[in-house]
Amino acid sequence: MAGDAHPPVEVLLGLGANLGDPRAQLARAVDALHEFVTGLQASSIYRTEPVGHRDQPDFYNQVVRGTTTLSPGALLDRVLAVEEEMGRRRTFRNAPRVIDIDILAYGDEVIRTERLTVPHPGIAERGFVLHPLAEVAPGWRHPERMQTAREMLSAAALERVEKI
Ligand code: AMP
Repeated sequence: MAGDAHPPVEVLLGLGANLGDPRAQLARAVDALHEFVTGLQASSIYRTEPVGHRDQPDFYNQVVRGTTTLSPGALLDRVLAVEEEMGRRRTFRNAPRVIDIDILAYGDEVIRTERLTVPHPGIAERGFVLHPLAEVAPGWRHPERMQTAREMLSAAALERVEKI
C-alpha cells in the first residue's frame, strides 16, 4: 500500500520460541524479517524458564535490530503474517509458541493505538528482552523511561536467563 510508505526508521524486535526446534525457528523468523527489515543485526540467543504457565518447555529469546520503511501498522501486519506462516496458534496468554515476534521499539516513537503499544510494555521487566537488547542496541534509550537496557537491567529484580 502506498499509504504505508514511511521514512527509514530503526526498529527493535523481540523474538521468542519454545516449541519444536526453537533455535531453528528463531533463525527462520530472522530470515523472514529480512524481507522488510534491512541491515539486520541479531543478538545472541538467551534461554529462560517459562513465566506464568510453567509446565512447558524453556523459552529461547533473541532481539534483532534493523531499518524499515514500513509504517508501524504495516510492520505489525508483516510480523503477524510471519507468525502465521510459521504456524503460530493463539491459545492462551503465555502459552507455548512456535514463534512470537514483538515490536519492542519503533525509532523513539511512543505509540498507543488499539493494536499497538510501543515501546512494548514488558521491556523493563523482562531479563530475556533486556539482556539481548543491551547487546544489539546499547545506546538505545526507552523514550518514556529515558533509560538504556543496561540501566533498566540494573534497576529491576529479573528472572534468570542463560546466554547460549
Ligand atoms: P502476542 O502474540 O501475545 O504478543 O499478542 C499479539 C497482539 O498484541 C497483536 O495482534 C497486536 O495487536 C498486539 N500488540 C500490541 N502492542 C504490540 C507490540 N508492540 N508488538 C507486537 N504486538 C503488539
